[in-house]
Amino acid sequence: LKERLDGVFGKLKGKGKLTEGDVQEALREVRRALLEADVNYKVVKGLVENIRRRAMERSVLDSITPGQQVVAVVYEELMDLMGSEPKPLTISPKPPTLMMMVGLQGGGKTTSTVKLAKRLSKGHKPLVVACDLRRPAAVDQLRVLAESAGVGFYGPEKGESDVLNVIDGALRYARDRLMDVILFDTAGRLTVDDEMMAELDAMKARIAPHEILLVVDAMTGQEAVSVSEAFHSRMDLTGVVLSKVDGDARGGAALAVLATTGVPIKFAGVGEGIDALEVFDAKRMAERIMGMGDVVGLVEKIEQATSEEDVKRLSSSLKKNKLDFNDLLAQFEQIEKMGPLDKVMEMIPGADKIKELKDGEMDPRRIARMKAIIQSMTPEERRSPAVIKGSRRRRIAQGSGTTVQMVNQLLKQQSQMNDLWKKMGKGKGRKKFQMPKL
Ligand code: GDP
Ligand code: MG
Repeated sequence: LKERLDGVFGKLKGKGKLTEGDVQEALREVRRALLEADVNYKVVKGLVENIRRRAMERSVLDSITPGQQVVAVVYEELMDLMGSEPKPLTISPKPPTLMMMVGLQGGGKTTSTVKLAKRLSKGHKPLVVACDLRRPAAVDQLRVLAESAGVGFYGPEKGESDVLNVIDGALRYARDRLMDVILFDTAGRLTVDDEMMAELDAMKARIAPHEILLVVDAMTGQEAVSVSEAFHSRMDLTGVVLSKVDGDARGGAALAVLATTGVPIKFAGVGEGIDALEVFDAKRMAERIMGMGDVVGLVEKIEQATSEEDVKRLSSSLKKNKLDFNDLLAQFEQIEKMGPLDKVMEMIPGADKIKELKDGEMDPRRIARMKAIIQSMTPEERRSPAVIKGSRRRRIAQGSGTTVQMVNQLLKQQSQMNDLWKKMGKGKGRKKFQMPKL
């Protein structure tokens, strides 16, 4: 997915101006990339629709950094979808807090139960309870893991076959020892079936849990979605633990699970070790899915740089049939507001592939020089560059601390740009400003 999106964004960013066709094309690519990453097609459809709408609202087309704007919009949509704020676990004000871990066999329930208990053992006294009576090995697995994590363990008495008795026993055990969080590890099945659901229903009724967490394997992709839907419709999940995120290069499961069920992902399992559990971080996941550098930083910079006013001013100037030095100055200022350019470039995934940018065409010193030249012009000169003849050129060069040659170059550049602009007609095929080599 990363490579696909890199490609899309690389193409966009290479362009100084985007037509609606470019955006459509890019969205098609985004769509394809998301589908390939195993994101559910319904989710993709909604996502792409939102991106399109938001891109249009933001007048991305009129912006001088359309490629980045599209990246920002895609990123924000992903974040929205994943719920940008982490959702904490519910801890009951009246202990004990009761949590039920559910999910298919092999999904990572037992491991996640212990990981979570260990995390909670800072500040709490957790107990993990083995309620998987179908496989004796499952009880031992939980016991061994709990021991190595140093958290309390409760298992069924020998010969116990009723899981409800185990629950009652565990509740008593925890009360006697003042354990304030109880995590019930349950029995999974290979697929969602009625027997398992009936058992879980009965357990839920007996426990009255504060949290019902579905542990779902991120690597199962689309299946994670149908599994989540099945569990949620029956059990009213309060959260998801997405396991094996470390092995999931595609990252689509997180998006899809969330978008289809609306159940927040609370934790992500990132390895087999007992400490390999992280609070689910939507920002990180969105970045992972987009395979990006510092997207957050980039989005923030773009937001700072493009105040509403700037956008209005720029888009109105771009609609004129003429480009004068005021327009150029506005563009330079916009570029400068984004901060040190090499920093901005680093944050854009794939920017290193855009040759012109790498060549230092946007060298801040050069921009500063060009700005100085423009600022040494009178308002009339800025509006009507044609009046700038010999003596005025000398004056401007002196005023800006540059040379007449540099002034000439900028004038020539401006005039060529203006010619092109007029030839193409406003709005059509806007040409990127070619920085003169000052
Ligand atoms: P359960 O049947 O749902 O209880 O699943 P288990 O907890 O027994 O886990 C099944 C397998 O997945 C075990 O080999 C775990 O070590 C492994 N596993 C669980 N969570 C993760 C994870 O986040 N990352 C990786 N790489 N492996 C995991
Ligand atoms: Mg298990």
